[in-house]
Amino acid sequence: MQIYLDNAATTKMSKTAINAMLPYMNGVYGNPSSLHSVGQRANEALADARERVAKLLGCGANEITFTSGGSEADNQAIVSAARIGEKSGKKHIISTAFEHHAVLHTLNKLAKEGFEITLLDVHENGIILPEQVADAIREDTCLVTVMYANNEIGTIQPIQEIGKICHEKGVLFHTDAVQAAGHLHIHVKEQNIDMLSLSAHKFHGPKGIGVLYARKGIRLSNLIEGGAQERGKRAGTENIPAIVGMAAALEEACGHIDEYAEKVTALRDKLIAGLSEIPHSILNGDAKRRLPGNVNFCFEGIEGESLLLLLDDKGVYASSGSACTSGSLDPSHVLLAIGRVHDIAHGSLRLTLSDENTEEEIEYTIGAVKEVVEYLRGISPIWRDLVSGKKEFIIK
Ligand SMILES: *Cc1c(COP(=O)(O)O)cnc(C)c1O
Repeated sequence: MQIYLDNAATTKMSKTAINAMLPYMNGVYGNPSSLHSVGQRANEALADARERVAKLLGCGANEITFTSGGSEADNQAIVSAARIGEKSGKKHIISTAFEHHAVLHTLNKLAKEGFEITLLDVHENGIILPEQVADAIREDTCLVTVMYANNEIGTIQPIQEIGKICHEKGVLFHTDAVQAAGHLHIHVKEQNIDMLSLSAHKFHGPKGIGVLYARKGIRLSNLIEGGAQERGKRAGTENIPAIVGMAAALEEACGHIDEYAEKVTALRDKLIAGLSEIPHSILNGDAKRRLPGNVNFCFEGIEGESLLLLLDDKGVYASSGSACTSGSLDPSHVLLAIGRVHDIAHGSLRLTLSDENTEEEIEYTIGAVKEVVEYLRGISPIWRDLVSGKKEFIIK
């Protein structure tokens, strides 16, 4: 058995996306800036992909910038808003404690430049309240950046309401929608979003390509200097095959978004129900207001890394949190943000599904996790202390 349950880290490319890309690797390999016909055909594909992506997000083609992925889009959105803000002396930014590191590390850099950063606390259910944002906005706030859905615990944020508050107060609103795009409905105008980041490899498109949507009138700052590509805001020859593949993948995902959600949610809830039977376990994040494919648990008395290795032996590919932090021994900042203590946060398991998973795979996975948790607890000195009453259980 090989069961891939790490779709929040990356997804398998769809056949539609691969097939859409092939002609631009085999035949139409021109540089879109070239004036000859093979270049112009590439340029047409670029314009067409931009139109299609814009339509799916509910914006204009001139509001779309192609980037190397979600991280670059997050960086450029935040730095641009900061540069706009500082021109009028506004150097305060609001975000949350459980953002992706592409957001948090960019904010750290701005803090060193003298920006003041407010990171909102996250309630135990993993959802930010619009009132928290309203209360934190000041005269000198230039940007609010709150993710659409969290990459570790999958919780969905009330971004439309947050955007509305920002607009009433004249503050720019950015959302990292990397986990949401292709999985949840997006309409930037209706949802009051000024800037949005997405990444193709999280919705069955290619890696290394993403989008920064920025509402018309918002002046973007360059992260990369050079040629005049992307209206002069992002230099470098465009990755045409990836851009075309991303447009195809997003179209496909948005075309069956409700069916996908229905199927994957059913699998998710079955998995949650099965894992909840494990004693001294807890689901991280709200049980319902979460991404269709996200399951995240903590098991007391367990070390997440050993859990992953033993599951790998059984053919179950999972994660303990974000792929970016695994490898380090620090517990997840997301789990700490929702109030899990260090010992508990260390025993976390993230399983993220796609519509390729089957009920059979979910049943197998439930059995495998139960077995591995039991085995690891059997050899754990901490577990012995908990069972003998020497230490008190944190998860009842
Ligand atoms: C994956 C991810 C990113 C980074 O996207 P890349 O395309 O891998 O750079 C940013 N934010 C969130 C929420 C993500 O899940």
